[in-house]
Amino acid sequence: MDRPSFVIHPEEAEAAAKRLGVSALQLLPLLVNPAKSLARPPISNFSVSAVGLGSSGRIFVGVNVEFPGLPLHHSIHAEQFLVTNLTLNSERHLRYFSVSAAPCGHCRQFLQEIRDAPEIRILITDPNAFRDAAAEDGDGDGFVRLESILPHRFGPDDLLEKDVPLLLEPHDNRLTLSDPDHLPNGEFCNGYIDSDISSNLRGTALSAANRSYAPYSRCPSGVALVDCEGKMYRGWYMESAAYNPSLGPVQAALVDFVANGGGGGFERIVGAVLVEKKDAVVSQELTARMLLQVISPKCDFKVFHCYEF
Ligand SMILES: [Zn+2]
Repeated sequence: MDRPSFVIHPEEAEAAAKRLGVSALQLLPLLVNPAKSLARPPISNFSVSAVGLGSSGRIFVGVNVEFPGLPLHHSIHAEQFLVTNLTLNSERHLRYFSVSAAPCGHCRQFLQEIRDAPEIRILITDPNAFRDAAAEDGDGDGFVRLESILPHRFGPDDLLEKDVPLLLEPHDNRLTLSDPDHLPNGEFCNGYIDSDISSNLRGTALSAANRSYAPYSRCPSGVALVDCEGKMYRGWYMESAAYNPSLGPVQAALVDFVANGGGGGFERIVGAVLVEKKDAVVSQELTARMLLQVISPKCDFKVFHCYEF
């Protein structure tokens, strides 16, 4: 099978499954190997891919992304990429996914932010992984429940009220910027960004911040990026009950860039806007600035502060 796209629509998935004589579920592990070619692991050279089936019938791909010059904890794991891809595309649920290697502890934890996480079913294509767990699950299709590989979980239930929307559920953080006439000087100066793009970037970053999942710190944030051809990408901060597996807004926007940027390098990113609350107890500004400076030194970076209305 050719290299898959990052989002496969139900008709395409159905046609591919039919061609191969398999079900949509059986298609997931068959896509894992070709999807590995989409990974960007220049440090480890260990490509990982995760292919998930959403409740809409769409299939989503996630891959690992590493950043030379930065500490390893800035990396994006394939399962985190998959979940980000789901949320960027407003997919409400992940019930099944197949992955090329056993999910690390960090990813098993990050997945807890999805409603009914213990019931998510996982198939590892590495033949050495999880033989015993698969046998215990008993359905005979090779998938195991997340609960069976992360028992005694710590998750949102431990810290949040039951009715708080979780990671894949809709969010509106009710954030707004100051009156545009009174915003601080937001001019970009690297020659790529005119005032229209600048204002679009600001609006896109604000919309992203409004979709951010930050129930633990209540410090939502969003990032918009623009490449040298004027194409925009966006992503938002997503927290984990265990804090460290949280994914920053720049990484989330880079998921959009990797998925939709036509395979170009990060140096193609020439402008970035972060929107977050002023004096936020969890601020992304310094980390975002450092990350962007390393992956795309000519990227111009602006920060705008928002408030709740
Ligand atoms: Zn992982």
